[in-house]
Amino acid sequence: MSDKYDVVVIGAGPAGYAAAIRCAQLGLNTACIDKSLDKDGEPTLGGTCLNWGCIPSKALLDASHKYEDAKKHFAELGIHTGEVTVDVAKMISRKDEVVKGLTGGIKSLFKGNGVTALHGTGRLLANRQVVFTAHDGAEQTLSAEHIILAPGSVPVEIPPAPLTDGLIVDSTGALEFDAVPPRLGVIGAGVIGLELGSVWSRLGSQVVVLEALEEFLPMADERIARDAKKILTGQGLDIRLGTLVTGAKAEGGEVQVSYQDAEGEHSLTVDKLIVAVGRRPYTEGLLAPDCGVNLDERGFLYVNDLCATDVPNVYAVGDVVRGPMLAHKGTEEGVMVAERIAGFKPLVNYDTVPSVIYTHPEIAWVGKSEQELKADGDNYKVGSFPFAASGRALAANDTQGMVKIVADADSDRILGVHVLGPQASELVAQAVIAMEFDASAEDLGLIMFAHPTLSEAVHEAALGVGGHAIHMVNRKRK
Ligand code: FAD
Ligand code: AMP
Repeated sequence: MSDKYDVVVIGAGPAGYAAAIRCAQLGLNTACIDKSLDKDGEPTLGGTCLNWGCIPSKALLDASHKYEDAKKHFAELGIHTGEVTVDVAKMISRKDEVVKGLTGGIKSLFKGNGVTALHGTGRLLANRQVVFTAHDGAEQTLSAEHIILAPGSVPVEIPPAPLTDGLIVDSTGALEFDAVPPRLGVIGAGVIGLELGSVWSRLGSQVVVLEALEEFLPMADERIARDAKKILTGQGLDIRLGTLVTGAKAEGGEVQVSYQDAEGEHSLTVDKLIVAVGRRPYTEGLLAPDCGVNLDERGFLYVNDLCATDVPNVYAVGDVVRGPMLAHKGTEEGVMVAERIAGFKPLVNYDTVPSVIYTHPEIAWVGKSEQELKADGDNYKVGSFPFAASGRALAANDTQGMVKIVADADSDRILGVHVLGPQASELVAQAVIAMEFDASAEDLGLIMFAHPTLSEAVHEAALGVGGHAIHMVNRKRK
């Protein structure tokens, strides 16, 4: 094996593998080191996203949604199925097959594009050198013209709720339950807590979500967050805000949880407890003391807007650097760095990173929320359109939520788009495209959308910014 490369990437999650593939496509001799092992102890590529994150969670979200739909809503469509039952083992093994297919896909992409995959641990030394330690313990020092660090993140653990085999689990454990826990506690009403809480609630768990903050989804638009909370509560998620978990103990096959709220101390007994209190950058063992790369005050690798660290030719991308911990954000950073190494000048536009919560209905947004604009003292106008008035949503029996667009009051430039509704994750892409092209609400209103589609709600909300949505009562005649 060669020990000289143009580029060495550490980490093969969506940030690292995208960087490695793009480098190789651009003719750079590239190696990518990753230490992850799958359930069978075999090396696996794709990082958190493919193995324990985005993909497996969506496989369970989609499967559990279909189950719930069949159980609760098919009769409304005139479909009678007889008893609908769930086979958890089958659902989990199908999820594993999806993961295997996709991680195997990265292996093929590496091979096809000429990326050398190195299975083991990478550690950055000074002078653009990396020690690669293979899983069998063999060590090799590699040197590279450029190094890209993409080691990702890991779940935050909190002292009051130490992980306890199979009973108090993190998000990874919550993707592996072998039966539906009758009573499930979730600490944290963030994206991961709500998604995993939804999976098991749909499959039959009584789910209590304990969230320290008083506000639900503070990062989302207030109106959307309020409506989402009502809908999710209606689905059976018992979301308790302003509750700080102070202890959790596994005892006799159950978990005793204690928490505080404005009324005092409480306790709760559950069969399983998911700790979903966020993720932290993962840098253990990554940096030799003299390598020159610095951390910021929150433990992220310090980089500038172009993902360059303090060491020339050493870059860092993905969850390990500032910005939202999202796969697509990491991928775009990885591609940007690869192309910059090859001499091109792309940028990542951090103002148009879409956020999605894959509950049902989904919650998705891009740009600024109404409360952010208000706090900044900006002059804005709002247009919204409810899915209850969308022909396609009605036809599909899926009418909860709305599209809300905020635009600058003077220039009409779109500043934020917020969607609560079916396929919000897909609809928000239209908003990202519009915002990337600096569209005004009027521009979006002048574009033709196919009928009947959910996308028409985006169109109508854009028209609504100017006060002339067609499928809304509007007495202004201009
Ligand atoms: P990672 O995917 O964490 O990959 C880093 C890789 O580097 C890992 O394989 C790690 O083992 C390896 N590594 C670390 N250090 C070393 C080292 N020193 N040597 C060798 N290898 C090393 N994001 C979304 O955008 N959409 C979603 O729907 C979504 N859902 C999620 C659901 C869950 C349950 C979770 C946990 C996360 C979810 N995320 C989602 C977040 C997403 O998974 C991360 O943002 C993304 O994986 C970050 O990519 P990354 O490449 O930076 O790091
Ligand atoms: P996120 O970072 O989006 O995954 O969300 C994690 C959530 O967990 C945040 O909203 C935190 O407020 C919440 N959280 C963290 N620690 C606790 C705790 N001890 N009890 C309840 N909620 C917590």
